[in-house]
Amino acid sequence: MDRKLRDFVGAKTAKTFSDVLGIETVGELLRHYPRRYLKKGELTPFDELEVGDQATVSGRVKKVTVRSLDSKQEIRPDEVNKYRRHKTITKVVVTDGRNDLELAFFNQPWLANKLTAGTAALFWGEVTMFRDIMQLKGPGTEILDEEDLSEEEIERRAKPFRPLYPASAKLPTATIERSIKIVLDNLDELDDPIPELIRKKEKLIGLREALQKVHLPETEKDWEVAQKRFRFEEALVMQTILAQRRAVTDALKAVPRPRAEGGLLDDFDARLPFKLTEGQAEVGEEIFADLARPHPMHRLLQGEVGSGKTVVALRAMLSVVDAGGQAVLLAPTEVLATQHHKTLTKMLGELAEQGMLGGAERATRVGLLTGSLNAASRRTAMLDAASGSAGIVVGTHALLEDKVQFADLSLVVVDEQHRFGVEQRAALSQKSGDATPHVLVMTATPIPRTVAMTVFGDLAVSTLTELPAGRSPIKSSVVPAKERPAWLERAWERVREEVQKGHQAYVVCPRIGDEVKNAADEEGEFAAGAEDEAGAKGKPRPAISVIQVAEVLEQVLGDLRVEILHGRLPADEKDSVMSRFAAGEIDVLIATTVIEVGVDVPNASTMVVMDADRFGISQLHQLRGRVGRGKVPGLCLLVTDSWPASASRGRLDAVASTTDGFELSRIDLENRREGDVLGVAQSGRRTSLKLLSVLRDEEIILTARHVANSLISVDPELTDYPVLRSFVRSALESEATDYLEKT
Ligand code: ADP
Ligand code: MG
Repeated sequence: MDRKLRDFVGAKTAKTFSDVLGIETVGELLRHYPRRYLKKGELTPFDELEVGDQATVSGRVKKVTVRSLDSKQEIRPDEVNKYRRHKTITKVVVTDGRNDLELAFFNQPWLANKLTAGTAALFWGEVTMFRDIMQLKGPGTEILDEEDLSEEEIERRAKPFRPLYPASAKLPTATIERSIKIVLDNLDELDDPIPELIRKKEKLIGLREALQKVHLPETEKDWEVAQKRFRFEEALVMQTILAQRRAVTDALKAVPRPRAEGGLLDDFDARLPFKLTEGQAEVGEEIFADLARPHPMHRLLQGEVGSGKTVVALRAMLSVVDAGGQAVLLAPTEVLATQHHKTLTKMLGELAEQGMLGGAERATRVGLLTGSLNAASRRTAMLDAASGSAGIVVGTHALLEDKVQFADLSLVVVDEQHRFGVEQRAALSQKSGDATPHVLVMTATPIPRTVAMTVFGDLAVSTLTELPAGRSPIKSSVVPAKERPAWLERAWERVREEVQKGHQAYVVCPRIGDEVKNAADEEGEFAAGAEDEAGAKGKPRPAISVIQVAEVLEQVLGDLRVEILHGRLPADEKDSVMSRFAAGEIDVLIATTVIEVGVDVPNASTMVVMDADRFGISQLHQLRGRVGRGKVPGLCLLVTDSWPASASRGRLDAVASTTDGFELSRIDLENRREGDVLGVAQSGRRTSLKLLSVLRDEEIILTARHVANSLISVDPELTDYPVLRSFVRSALESEATDYLEKT
């Protein structure tokens, strides 16, 4: 498998493979699977053709004529390129030596220069009758070189299933096909990474047979059984990596932090103004059990927006502080870090006022460390972290800087992990000396089981399924601003009514709009000249911005207290806006997605999302979670210019139709590409998963996981499975598995 391709196909072709597809070895070529299969008809002699058949014929071109359908004039071959955009018909007469057959191609005049008289080719398509002449209408064509004209080669090429490869002009599918055939014919031994016993048990075909069937199938069934086998192989390699990693993690040392009676946690529980939900209590116990072990916790806490993850995290942090350690809470944005800091401080009350007048007898401190602190506050925060006087430190990635030291960091809580890179998490792990800290990752974007098993293979998962009692439902509607301009006016009226009832509202926009005004911006008048989804005229207009909406609301809601919030405001201003909104001193907050996660203002009842189609499903769900957090029923209006039948409108309708985050997450994932799901798409890396889908192939992944676990438990180094071991090694070497690396 590691043998060089150039030993098989010649230097020139090998170089093209290397240049175009990065393929160097035989193994890489054989794993360049067909993108799909072309279905041809059966190879049929001319005199056996029947109208209605799907057939393939082999013949030589006798005559070609191109005619303009407008002028009915015949077009000379040297003129055809001028007629590329005209309506034309190209008629080709082919012969098998005895009989003739007519082919008709519409609007492809250039074919006249390819299918010149004497050219041999395969044609396939439906046999029709036109004015008493038998034709193939708009057939597929494959020109045959003179050396391809052996009966055997024609038979092969005319096969009902022909592979189509991810190819390019420089490396056409026929070259790939030919090279694969050469390799398959000349390669003798092939080592199968799937151990034979497992292959038997799972009824999977062997490697050689599978390669034959995936590249040169005779029937549909062939490539189905082949693909099944390769999917399992990919899943097995991946799950073996994860099983090994779990074994390593299980062997890591952490300082056990068993829950202590009579500490801060008990004091906190005693002063909690509400009763924990059953789920919160249960997950709490799971976490305490993890923390008591001498191995690091790796737990994912997933729960619907508003399900009360923060309390769960805080209780975990307090229990660690009680046991003499420190905890860190990492947030994806500064706004959110600041919010968390306030929330924690407030929830803890005097328990967070250690050493202060009025502080409780047993108390700690909650530090805040973000990028935009002034030098003095920063120094204090860093000192508190380093001395250990801050039992809890909240912050953004500024916390990851080398300079930040901790006295005894033992728990890292990561909020909204999907915003955090794996590298950053790894950096934090390095801050706790010899022992590895316990890690709790929180997310409001539920992850399907298989994805959790793939991307977060070594994380245990806890789920909060219920919302705290007394939550009000959120009503959501789509507001088609273009079809129904009056509805948008009505939306602003609803905002006014809510404010009159004493509530507050968010208006969310995709863009800030404070860029230097340019031509596009001038054109981009509010809600004018909207984008045409079907991809028609003109440039799409820029998304509606915070600044534009502020101007509009100045007119419409001028008497209310309207303010703006976005990422480019100075930190203290952001802070001040956020605190005034939380204090009820602002009625309407026009903002970008800085408010997406975690912001908690229970009095906010209404959210209007402008150009809602520009947001993703889970993002909208997150945003919507900002309202309906208190006793006040929530209202979410999704304003859009997208067309009723468009895909983006479909997404909005889905969001409006349910508040079930798991359901939305499923819809969302189905609409995304696999790479996005695994988080590798942005980096543009090739993934080692070629045929396996972490969404669809749940069963295969579960089986492979089970198999991998048992293999690793008896043979952690895979000594008895050298082929699998070498597959695992090369998967690890390829950058593509970076996403597995540090989770
Ligand atoms: P999320 O899971 O989205 O982070 P939060 O932790 O921010 O949710 O909780 C949302 C709101 O619900 C907060 O105001 C929190 O104080 C409140 N809350 C949490 N747990 C309960 C509970 N058991 N009963 C009542 N309210 C709760
Ligand atoms: Mg939260």
